Amino acid sequence: MPELPEVETTKRGLAPLIVNQVVECATLYRGNLRWDIPKHLPTTLANQRINDINRRGKYLLIKFDIGTLIIHLGMSGSIKVLSKARPCQKHDHFELSFHNNTVMRLNDPRRFGAVLFSADGTHALLEGLGVEPLEGLFDEAYLYNRSRNKQQNIKAFIMDSKVVVGVGNIYACESLHQAGIDPRRKAGSISKKRYQLLTQCIKTILAQAIKAGGTTLQDFSQVDGSPGYFTQTLNVYGREGERCSTCNGKIIRLVQNQRSTFYCKKCQT
Ligand SMILES: [Zn+2]
Repeated sequence: MPELPEVETTKRGLAPLIVNQVVECATLYRGNLRWDIPKHLPTTLANQRINDINRRGKYLLIKFDIGTLIIHLGMSGSIKVLSKARPCQKHDHFELSFHNNTVMRLNDPRRFGAVLFSADGTHALLEGLGVEPLEGLFDEAYLYNRSRNKQQNIKAFIMDSKVVVGVGNIYACESLHQAGIDPRRKAGSISKKRYQLLTQCIKTILAQAIKAGGTTLQDFSQVDGSPGYFTQTLNVYGREGERCSTCNGKIIRLVQNQRSTFYCKKCQT
C-alpha cells in the first residue's frame, strides 16, 4: 500500500514531468474508483496548464488556475508519465494527456484510490488532517500536548491522521522500536523527553524511506518498471519470532486496533 514516502516520491518524480504542461485531454476509463470521478473533468481540464504539484498527507494536489485535482493512490495505485504512443495497461483508469506528447496515467488494480476536483482547493477529505511529520510543527511539544489525558495506546495515537498524517502501520512499528517505546503504553503517560526521541525517529525513518524511493523511481517514465513501492530494511515489522537487532530479545506480534504490531519485549518499555 502506498504510504507517505511513496506518495512523496511520486510527487517528486512527477513534478519535473508535469508542471507547466498543458492538458490536451483528460480521459476517464471508468466512472468511479473509491468515489465517482467528476464527469466534468475532460471539459474542465482541457487546455489548462498545471501550475504545481503538492502533497498533503497521502493526497496529491495538482494545481491549475481553475482549481485542484486531488488524487489518492488508495491501496494499490501508481502514476506514470509515458509517451502517448504507449498503449493503456489493464487497470489504467484515468489519464491526462499533454501537448508535449506525454501522458500521465493512474493505474489502480484494487480501485480504492480517488480522483477528485476542487475549484477552491479545499475538500472535506483534507479538512482536519493533522500536521505533516516532516515539517517543523511536528515536534515533542506538539505530541506531548495532544496526548495529555489520552487513554489510547501510543501506536494508535501516532497513526491517527487527525494528530499527524502519514505514519502507517509499518512506520509506527519501526519508529516505536527505534525509540524504545512499548506500543501498548498509553499515549497520555509518555514523557516529553520520550516524545522528543519518538518524533526524531519518525522523521528519520520517513526520510530514509523517501530517499530509498527516490532511487527506485529514477526512471519514472519506464512503463514496465516497478510501480515505485520499495522495501526498506525493517527491524521489527514482519519479523515475529526473530531476534531483535538492538538487544537480541525476541520480536513478538500482537494485534492492536485490528492491526498487527511487531515489537521487542526487552528493549521497548
Ligand atoms: Zn530489543
